[in-house]
Amino acid sequence: MAGIYIHIPFCKQACHYCDFHFSTNMKKKSQMVEALCNEIFLRKNEFKGENIRTIYFGGGTPSVLSVSEIEQLVNSVYENYRVISDPEITLEANPDDLNNIAISELNKSPINRLSIGVQSFFEEDLKLMNRAHNAQEAQNCILTARSYFDNISIDLIYGIPGMSDERWKSNIEKALSFDVPHISSYALTVEPKTALKKFIEKGIVEDVDDEVAQRHFQILNETLTNAGYSCYEISNFGKPGYFSKNNTAYWQQKRYIGIGPSAHSYNGEQRGWNINNNSKYIESIEKNKVPIEVETLSTTDKYNEYVMTGLRTIWGVSLLRIKEDFGVNYRDYLISQAQKYIDEHLLFVDDDKLMTTNKGKFLADGIASHLFMLNLS
Ligand code: SF4
Repeated sequence: MAGIYIHIPFCKQACHYCDFHFSTNMKKKSQMVEALCNEIFLRKNEFKGENIRTIYFGGGTPSVLSVSEIEQLVNSVYENYRVISDPEITLEANPDDLNNIAISELNKSPINRLSIGVQSFFEEDLKLMNRAHNAQEAQNCILTARSYFDNISIDLIYGIPGMSDERWKSNIEKALSFDVPHISSYALTVEPKTALKKFIEKGIVEDVDDEVAQRHFQILNETLTNAGYSCYEISNFGKPGYFSKNNTAYWQQKRYIGIGPSAHSYNGEQRGWNINNNSKYIESIEKNKVPIEVETLSTTDKYNEYVMTGLRTIWGVSLLRIKEDFGVNYRDYLISQAQKYIDEHLLFVDDDKLMTTNKGKFLADGIASHLFMLNLS
């Protein structure tokens, strides 16, 4: 089973914190859709004989596509790959694109899961982040989407400068009031070369605070768990039956093809990443050449990736799998490195699985980096 990720590299405006690849110039949108279809065709032999289980439109802002452009892309996948009968097909969408007409049109398209970039229900947060939508649009679009789609996720951001614990709790309560089956939630991070980074350096915006973010995560985890969601990955909470199949496959090291500028791919042995420039991407595809760079993963790379992703999820890191896939030395190394965190009640071993405790969850990435093996190859 494999997945296809399609990157739509356009946004209406640049959010202040964002370092994803996108352009606010949409002149090349239809040329881009053509190029994406061509890349799907050019790579049709990569997963020959394998079933495609998920198709995921990410970005950028995939909801800037028309329904006919979405259909063109989905048809292209069906023409070139073997797709299972009921694939999960997700569209990331922004609230300002999701009015009543747009949602009812999407409901007639092959899209069967919406991931809505709400981020906050408060005007001051949305303004600080320079989101293209306002708080009212965020609420309206979820209400409308709920009447057409069963499988909906919303994104929320915490740790925003100036966001009190009370405001964060209100955001979560608001999200719960819509009874969506899935919530993704991330700590605001300050990436280099973003407007947010510059504002912080100039003292226009206060810096993000790790302690606040950690507190917000604990509030989030506790509130959503009590409301019947599972924190199946640090940033993802789902009701039973609504875990994202696309994301789950990614965390379980399943293979996927990333289509479009800046998209990443993984085939079990190699990681690849496409050029992150729209014009150069289109030019290359027009010459029938996929502009991808590829890196072959060493055993140590694979061990490190498994530890990193495993610790973030409820499936944990299987000590048996470490022994079988990487060797007894890796397993013994992992156990010895993990002991300090087990003693500090940040990790625990349940049966065969090494996992984070509730206290350790937010720190999983930092802990994982201390469990990594050095790559000497
Ligand atoms: S809409 Fe998403 S991809 Fe586009 S700038 Fe904002 S955060 Fe980045």
